[in-house]
Amino acid sequence: MAKITLKNLRHSYMPNPKGPEDYALKEVDLDWQDGGAYALLGPSGCGKSTLLNIISGLLVPSEGQILFDGQDVTQLPPDQRNIAQVFQFPVIYDTMTVYDNLAFPLKNRGVDQATIDRRVREIAEMLEVTDMLNRRAAGLSPDNKQKISMGRGLVRDDVNVVMFDEPLTVIDPHLKWKLRSKLKELHQRVKATMIYVTHDQTEALTFADKVVVMQLGEVVQIGTPVELFERPAHTFVGHFIGSPGMNVLPAELRDGAAYFHGQQVALEGPVNPGTTGKVEIGVRPEFVSLGDSGIEATVRRVSDVGRHYVIDAEAGGSKISAILNGTAPMVGETVHLQFRADQTRVYADGWIASTPATEESAA
Ligand code: ADP
Ligand code: MG
Repeated sequence: MAKITLKNLRHSYMPNPKGPEDYALKEVDLDWQDGGAYALLGPSGCGKSTLLNIISGLLVPSEGQILFDGQDVTQLPPDQRNIAQVFQFPVIYDTMTVYDNLAFPLKNRGVDQATIDRRVREIAEMLEVTDMLNRRAAGLSPDNKQKISMGRGLVRDDVNVVMFDEPLTVIDPHLKWKLRSKLKELHQRVKATMIYVTHDQTEALTFADKVVVMQLGEVVQIGTPVELFERPAHTFVGHFIGSPGMNVLPAELRDGAAYFHGQQVALEGPVNPGTTGKVEIGVRPEFVSLGDSGIEATVRRVSDVGRHYVIDAEAGGSKISAILNGTAPMVGETVHLQFRADQTRVYADGWIASTPATEESAA
């Protein structure tokens, strides 16, 4: 196991990159702590696989360094990095049995027969494939093939890091949640550093202690699931995490106060001095409620999602979503929306530009 450091990493697939738009990774500086459970979350094309392949050595970055426990491995090939990588689609040997597939990474390292047998049976037990051990891999369903592929990634206990690149893509939805919690459990048991790549917020938030959110080749925020939910550092994180995502509303700043559609909105605390650029107010639907006063809005849609209602209302040409309990308003009704002040933040050019009130500033 090792701490993994990425230093000034940049990567372009072009021979002569010019502007930042030619880079699949723009500038990445990151520490992955030894034993951590990480998720790398972002939409398709944001550079997740590029980053993983640089860590595993399948790809040499255009610029920057990768360090394992302080040692530069940037130029080392994958087989000398002591890592395990599980890909989106199963990588197994069809002609071998399931047992031999699982044993292969250990045999390859010259592990003794007794240890191999113990590890293979342990992993098979965890993944619930014990009854298939003697079958040939060729006959397995895609689900089971991918489970074996994951097992091959987990069977060694001496790797620096286990990386999963969207491993549940081919897995049946009802099996997905099961494997997801299984992976979490596995991490707690083996304590290896794990990096789990996905574009699915639910997968990321259930697996990881720390989530690294990427957009357009850049890391926009690193945080615990709670931190990402409560204080998105960027409106992208606000949109991407949550269901529905954070409301982001056009705003104006005057004398340190924020106005939406001419009406002042109470904030979590002071706006950073010197804030300029495109100003927006961010508040999650969970913190929008109905009241007797507040922002006047027209209800456009009401969805009953079981335990609560989600409404979409329109005010000043903007859509505002709210998650509500109790009696739902009617479509077409005029309502007054209130934002919980301590959960209402200001963003400038996408980045957070307000700070929570301290006792001093509130006094
Ligand atoms: P993700 O895994 O987040 O979907 P990728 O790392 O695969 O994203 O891709 C990041 C960007 O790099 C995308 O714009 C993609 O088109 C480009 N890219 C990925 N692989 C290659 C490649 N082998 N050659 C050229 N461009 C690539
Ligand atoms: Mg990918």
